[in-house]
Amino acid sequence: MKTEVILAEDLKKIGPVFGQLSFQDHEQIVFCNDKDTGLKAIIGIHDTTLGPALGGTRMWQYNNEQDALNDVLRLSRGMSFKSAITGLNLGGGKAVIIGDAKTQKTPELMLKFGEFVHSLGGRYITAEDVGMTTGDMDLVRKVTPYVTGISEQNGGAGNPSPITAYGTFMGMKASAKYAFGSDNLENKVVYVQGIGNVGEALVEHLSNEGAKVFISDINHERLQQVRDTYSVEIYSGDNLYKEQMDIYAPCALGATLNDHSIEQLKAKIIAGAANNQLADEDTHAKMLREKGIVYAPDFLINAGGIINVYAELENYGKQEIIRKTENIYTTTLEILQKAEKEDITTHKAALTIAQSRIDARKIEKA
Ligand code: NAD
Repeated sequence: MKTEVILAEDLKKIGPVFGQLSFQDHEQIVFCNDKDTGLKAIIGIHDTTLGPALGGTRMWQYNNEQDALNDVLRLSRGMSFKSAITGLNLGGGKAVIIGDAKTQKTPELMLKFGEFVHSLGGRYITAEDVGMTTGDMDLVRKVTPYVTGISEQNGGAGNPSPITAYGTFMGMKASAKYAFGSDNLENKVVYVQGIGNVGEALVEHLSNEGAKVFISDINHERLQQVRDTYSVEIYSGDNLYKEQMDIYAPCALGATLNDHSIEQLKAKIIAGAANNQLADEDTHAKMLREKGIVYAPDFLINAGGIINVYAELENYGKQEIIRKTENIYTTTLEILQKAEKEDITTHKAALTIAQSRIDARKIEKA
């Protein structure tokens, strides 16, 4: 899907709400507004065929409301496919809070957000995403049971990010097995873009395996911290896409795979945790395929986090979380092989399997 600019005359023709170009079959969109706390949030429920819509809440300073809406629509749709391909009985949902998590996130704002989540009666279950912590989810838990990603001391499965990173690492290793014939990442040059909660944990796995890791982030303090902790180098250039590398791991925000970046990319594999990496699902997946770059679909390999929070609903323990997360290796290999066999993009191969699971459940329910 593209983040499109919609002209006023187009809006008249297609309708300003359901006509949104990224509004692809969403069941429900909820706009949450609270004057007292300054909360402005959007909850997107894409599909609840497989179960309640579960997906994290992102707090981000968007340039405008349209960007926030596009983000939540893209993210919630991605969650439907992520849970479907991972075999979880969950639908797809996501929330965004508009604002700066560092300066505008207050306990009152989080509690008010929790009340809005509660008002949906469990159709949407939240968790953490960019700008959120387990502490924030513990707060939300005070006003609603429809929240996961709770801290371990409060009975939850804890921060999902290390498990997300582990699953991403599994997907990366499977891609290496497919592309290089071996999943050993020793001496492979890997660029990790975004070394937040997930990116840092991924860096740890990579550096333990002896990969040559370069890190980039807009947060310079964090770059120094991570460089001081692991044996990695800070990327000091201004355009990592043009660098010689084996693997590009996008772990910041979405849409970094676009006309501009793909044209320059020399990586043989793309495997990262960021959601919605393809700016346009069809065009950019095809461009990657034409360039012979192995793309591990984001919603497949970053599913560790949802596996971790789902444990809170299904009461399974760490061992099962690890087993399900390690299975990402096998599924990734299967998807890469299916794409090759059917002469389609890896994104399409993954999407087709996810959609067929949703469609089968619809038929069962009918
Ligand atoms: P985070 O907020 O902890 O980290 C994001 C990092 O990216 C920050 O350090 C930020 O400074 C950096 N960043 C932002 N813009 C950047 C840019 N243009 N260039 C380089 N760095 C930039 O978030 P996170 O929890 O680590 O999540 C990272 C990505 O993975 C997000 O896209 C998120 O949706 C996705 N994801 C996270 C989880 C999870 O369990 N946390 C699960 C699935 C998917």
